[in-house]
Amino acid sequence: MRLVLLGPPGAGKGTQAARLCAALRIPHVATGDIFRENVRDATPLGLVAREYMERGDLVPDEVVIDMVTDRIARDDCHDGFLLDGFPRTVPQALALEDVLAARGQPLDAVLRFVVDADEVVRRLAGRREEEDRTDDAEDVVRHRLEEYRTKTEPLEAFYAERRLLRDVEAGGAVDEVTQRAHEALAQLPGTRS
Ligand code: AMP
Repeated sequence: MRLVLLGPPGAGKGTQAARLCAALRIPHVATGDIFRENVRDATPLGLVAREYMERGDLVPDEVVIDMVTDRIARDDCHDGFLLDGFPRTVPQALALEDVLAARGQPLDAVLRFVVDADEVVRRLAGRREEEDRTDDAEDVVRHRLEEYRTKTEPLEAFYAERRLLRDVEAGGAVDEVTQRAHEALAQLPGTRS
């Protein structure tokens, strides 16, 4: 199965992605994680991405698109994958659509994690305490949410038009959200989730 997870920072995408990937036996392709590894290892990609990430800006489309295109061309993605944090802009979504069309392997669904704004801010404040993520500082978080609103939210209409969008209510306990995500997948026509 080929899935995309959509939702603002703090919607719980990472946690749910890991669970869904384990259950569906597909690789978890998380662009933020790939960037963080590259920053940690001070690779050329990491050096480019770092300044954008620290400001809470999106990394330029061409950089992300090349990285994801390479990643999903690997063998482990042949029978499916879950994209977490990509696409985040319309040009990224168009590029993904082209790459997958060329493979004859379109997306099965885009799960949109729906969570209210107060909950997002609360979760991100908690994560700031627990994890050492410099981009969870308050002003940077505000900017990341703004980036989401202006650049990523248009993808909701993009995928709704393509009849791929499925909403998952993402408030409440982690187990309940996982259950709702599986229910959304079970309702897809002709899939074996
Ligand atoms: P995340 O862990 O998904 O919140 O991503 C952390 C940071 O990595 C983001 O704030 C961006 O700077 C960068 N990033 C991750 N995915 C993308 C993407 N698809 N497009 C642009 N920048 C991205």
